This record gives sequence, structure tokens and C-alpha cells, in this order.
Amino acid sequence: MRLDVVSLAPEAFAPLLGLGVIGRAFSAGRAELHLHNPRDFATDRYRKVDDEPYGGGAGMVLKPEPVYAAVESIPALPKRRVLLMSPQGKPLEQADFRRWASSYDQLVFLCGHYEGFDERIRALAHEEVSIGDFVLTGGELPAMTIINGVVRLLPGTVGTEACLEEESHSALLLEHPHYTRPADFRGMTVPDVLRSGDHGAIARWRSQQQKERTQQRRPDLYERWQAQQQE
Ligand code: SAM
Repeated sequence: MRLDVVSLAPEAFAPLLGLGVIGRAFSAGRAELHLHNPRDFATDRYRKVDDEPYGGGAGMVLKPEPVYAAVESIPALPKRRVLLMSPQGKPLEQADFRRWASSYDQLVFLCGHYEGFDERIRALAHEEVSIGDFVLTGGELPAMTIINGVVRLLPGTVGTEACLEEESHSALLLEHPHYTRPADFRGMTVPDVLRSGDHGAIARWRSQQQKERTQQRRPDLYERWQAQQQE
């Protein structure tokens, strides 16, 4: 998969390339990262990428010309999706990672800065995506969050497909608890069932734990899961 990032801080993405399984996906060629700085496309002698908002108000706004020029310089693959990072976007979900990983061969990320984008930049994007109801200084961490979530779903990145199927949010329910050795750590013991060798009982316990956890921690998800079961 080809990933193109339009950002005023392209250096922020360097750690991704050395990040465990994600870094290995890049070195193995499963994903390619291309960085584009709108400042390189600014035409005035100060390489200006921001300006004051029409109508006044606090902060500066990202100008459209350098962002359009940066996006238009990117080679387009047949199945391309342009994602604009914005706290006003659709809240990100695991299902989005699955959809992007399976349906597209190129994702383009538009990272904002300052007060945000000139409104006309929005016309470049297929989707606006928020990583949560809070505001960060720039779109780099949101874009890296999505890159991490998508690249780990590409075939071959994570060891086994089973890991991906069982984890939290893969089927609305959160994942069950995990334990490893020792069986007794400072008086906190591993549930007997997990050491019983009875695979049926272990599966039932895990399934029950998933439901209880989700109901306690994320009643909204639990409701959606229940509705899905009734369909
Ligand atoms: N003034 C804007 C608003 O109220 O919608 C916020 C601008 S924010 C300081 C600068 C940039 O950071 C945004 O354009 C966006 O690219 C990115 N950003 C900040 N918070 C984000 C979030 N929760 N999800 C996605 N992107 C975010």
C-alpha cells in the first residue's frame, strides 16, 4: 500500500519507519511512505503557507494553493482515498482501518496546522477523520495513528490472522483478559480455568469475559453488539 502524507512537519514521521512490526512492514515493502511538504510548493519568496483569516479572528489558516499543488504532485494509483485530519471529522473506528486496508492501494493524508485549513482544501478529501473529541496542534499524530492501524492489518504484518480476529473492536466486543507466567504474582492468581487444559471451558470463559468487560466498560458497544446478534 502506498501512503502519502501532506504535512508541514514531515520529520515527525521518521519514528514510524523504526517502529517494530510497522517498521518491518515498510522495510519489507508491504507499505511505502512518501512525505510532501506544502512549503516546498509555496511560490512566494517567503514560502508562505498560512495567512490571516478573512473576517478577522485569532490564529492563521493554511492557504489552499500550496496544499493543492502538493496533492496534485502525488502520483495517483487507481484505488486512492484522500483523508483529511480534522477534529470535526467522523470519529475513527477499527472498521475504518479494515475498510481502508482492504479497499484501497493508496491513502493520502492531509495534516492541518494553526487554526486549520482554508475551507476550500476540504474539497480535496474523500473523508474527514477525527481521532477523538479533543484538539491537537497538528494532523501528524492523527495520521500516524491511522497509518499504524491500517499497516498492521496488511497481510503479513502481524504474525497470525487469529490475533487480529480476536482483539478488541474486531467484532464490537472488547478482548478477554490475558495472563502469562507466573501463575501466582504477589497473591494475584491466574483463573483456574485457564490452567485446566479444557479448551471448551476456556473458550466459554473468554467469551463470557468479553461480554462482561464490554458491558461494564463500553455499554455503547455492548448495545451495538446485542443489536447485531438480533439481526
Ligand atoms: N481550529 C480547528 C477546529 O476547531 O476545528 C482545529 C485546528 S487544530 C489546532 C490543527 C490541526 O490539527 C487540524 O487542522 C487537524 O489537521 C489536526 N487535528 C487536531 N485535533 C485533531 C483530531 N482530534 N483529529 C484529527 N485531526 C486533528
